[in-house]
Order: sequence, then C-alpha cells, then structure tokens
Amino acid sequence: MKDSILVINCGSSSLKFAILANAGQTTLVEGIADRLGSSESSITFKYQEKKSIVMLDEGSHKNAVTQVKLWLNAHADIEHSLMGIGHRVVHGGEAFTKSVLINQEVINGITDCSKFAPLHNPAHAKGIEVAFELFPGLPQVAVFDTAFHQTLAPEQFLYPIPMSFYREHHFRKYGFHGTSYRYISQRLAQISLGSDQQGVLVAHLGNGASTCAIDHGQSSDTSMGITPLEGLMMGTRSGSLDPSLISFISHAENISADEALDILSKKSGLLGVSEISNDCRTLEEAMASGDQRAKLALDMFAARTAKHLASVATTLKSIDHLVFTGGIGENSSYLRQVICNHLKALNINIDSTLNEKAPRGAEYDITANNSNTTVWIIPTNEELMIALDTISLIQH
Ligand code: ADP
Repeated sequence: MKDSILVINCGSSSLKFAILANAGQTTLVEGIADRLGSSESSITFKYQEKKSIVMLDEGSHKNAVTQVKLWLNAHADIEHSLMGIGHRVVHGGEAFTKSVLINQEVINGITDCSKFAPLHNPAHAKGIEVAFELFPGLPQVAVFDTAFHQTLAPEQFLYPIPMSFYREHHFRKYGFHGTSYRYISQRLAQISLGSDQQGVLVAHLGNGASTCAIDHGQSSDTSMGITPLEGLMMGTRSGSLDPSLISFISHAENISADEALDILSKKSGLLGVSEISNDCRTLEEAMASGDQRAKLALDMFAARTAKHLASVATTLKSIDHLVFTGGIGENSSYLRQVICNHLKALNINIDSTLNEKAPRGAEYDITANNSNTTVWIIPTNEELMIALDTISLIQH
C-alpha cells in the first residue's frame, strides 16, 4: 500500500530525513547527513533501532539524497510504499500562507524568499530539485515555518520604521516554528476539547526558541521577526536588544556591521553569557556543580522567555493554556519552573512536584491548583505535520 511519506529538512550544511507511514504515526527510518560542503560529511540511517553510517565522497545535498535513494533501493518494500515527499521550508515570505504542492512556480517563490533566509532557502530549493530528479513521478509538498503566522494583524507584524521599507522590500515580522505551533494547537485541541476556541500561549524552546500566542487556533503574535534572531535569548543568538549595539560592537571591535550581526547570531545567547556552552543540558550540569555563569545564563534565558510570553499574550482575550515544547521546554524542569515564577502576576502557576516528575517525551499537565491557566508539556512533532500536509495535498 502506498501510504508513506519521505520528509526532508535541508539545512545549509545538513539534511535530515524520515519516512513516516500509517498516516504519519510510524517512523520507518530516519537519519541525518551532516557537515555537507566539507570533506568529512557522512549520512546516518536509523532503522529498526540500529544505526548505520555511510561516509559521503562528496558532501553535497545531491549526494545525501542519492544515498537515501540507494538505501531505499535496498529496502524495496519501503520504496514501493512511498506516496510523496514533504519538504520543510524555513521562509515562505508573504507569498505562502499554507503548505503547497510544488511546481516550478513554487520553487521560484522559495528562491525569491532567499534574501530573508540566505542559508536555508537556497538549500531547500536545491533539495527539492534533487528530489524531483531522483524520485520522478512522486508529488512533492512544501511546508513553511512562516506560514502559520500569516494571520498576524498589521499592528503586530509591521516594524515601526518608514512604511516604504515594507512597501518596497517587505521588511516585516514573519515569525518561525510555525509548523510546530500548528501541531501544538491541533494536538491541544484533541487533548483539551475547546482549546481551539480559547487563548493559548506556546513556548517552543530548543536551540532556536520563540513564543507564540494562538487565538482561536490562529497565530496572533510571535516573538521571532524578519529572521529568527528576534525575540528570546537562544543557544547562540542574542534575541531582541537595542539595535544600536550593532554599531557599538562594530566600532569597539573594528569589524563590519555584518560581522557584528554574526556575533549576535552565533556567539551570543546561552553560549555568550555562560562562556561554557550553548547547550541547556550542559549548562544545567555545570550549574549543579556550582558554576555561577551557567546559572546566570539559564536564569536570563528564563526571564527573557517569560517577558516574551507576556508580550505576545497582549493579543489574547484570555490566557487559557500555556504549552512548553522543544528540547528545552519538554525536558528542563528547572527552566519551566523559573519561567513560571516570572509569570505569577498573570496567575500562571505550576505544581513543582508534577513539574519535576513529568515523564520524558510524554504529554503532561503540570498546572497548580491556584492557576488560572492550564500549563502543559507537549512534545512537538513537526515531521508528523509535514507528512499530514503532504498526504492531504496529494489526495485533493
Ligand atoms: P533544535 O532547535 O536544534 O531543534 P531541540 O529542540 O532539539 O533544538 O533542543 C535542543 C536543546 O534541548 C539543547 O539545548 C539541549 O540541551 C536541550 N535538552 C535536551 N534534553 C534535555 C534535558 N534532558 N535537560 C535539559 N535540556 C535538554
């Protein structure tokens, strides 16, 4: 039966993939090709609980997809079950408000958005072209990180700069993690009936981190902007700050504005403050052994996350639910606790015991008795969303 979807997520130097069957519920095989563009690239396949690694002679996206195709040739039953390919695309600009079946016009549209995502969108376009070449006849679908936020009102998405920048260059807030937020919104509506008629806050906290307010199932505000640099403090990104700092840093260090921006993007956030790591787990271990820099970085992360939750909440009529998701949101009881400590004025309270004992990888309600808002941990599943969109567009 043709019921499986190949999900592809092409990054600038990596390519993640998964094949999902049974309406996206079963992962048959998954893997990642990384260090693409270098001579040390390899691709890992995880199949039936076992991992295998293949070195790539030439670390290109094309070579990575070719290896997936070769693996499928050796697993003919899975190859024959493929009904389509779903691609994660970071930036869809204002052109894409929902997932679409890919044709040449769509590839051109994705390429047009490259100015806002110069590392990602060209890689997506390349991945799509290679997939068409290697899997001729399989329909392909693009699922955009930005699409869910196209429902923002102008007073939320416009920057207070001369309007000509928006008119002529489309400089505005786009927001990201949209596929994750859409999944969380739909999943919450299944486990808490009626939540799609209420106000929901979501904190997607991973290496990249953002917040989103969802009003009646639609995004009403989000913390990331024209790029994923705005908003929360992240693994290596500073998040929002006074834009004058770019000028101060470039003068102080005698570097260009672009180089200063690179520091805000790659050397700031948890890494920049702690001077230890961008990784939350590593910092929690350092904090547990008494490292004050790690504690400061984590506490700043929590304070800023709370601030951006409160900020996007201004677009809601009520805060009925708060959901934590992403690697940090799902796993760090410390950060969930400190974030919620900052939200007491909004009557958001969690039960410390429930928070501590939340089982890994499960959906869990950690609300305290005295909370106005129900607080959840819900593991995100962007691959499932991409597979479901792909199935739905192919079948219509
Ligand atoms: P990405 O944005 O790359 O998809 P993830 O959602 O995978 O990121 O989240 C990665 C982050 O989650 C890292 O900072 C990692 O340390 C953190 N994380 C994962 N597991 C744990 C854990 N058990 N405790 C604390 N942090 C964790």
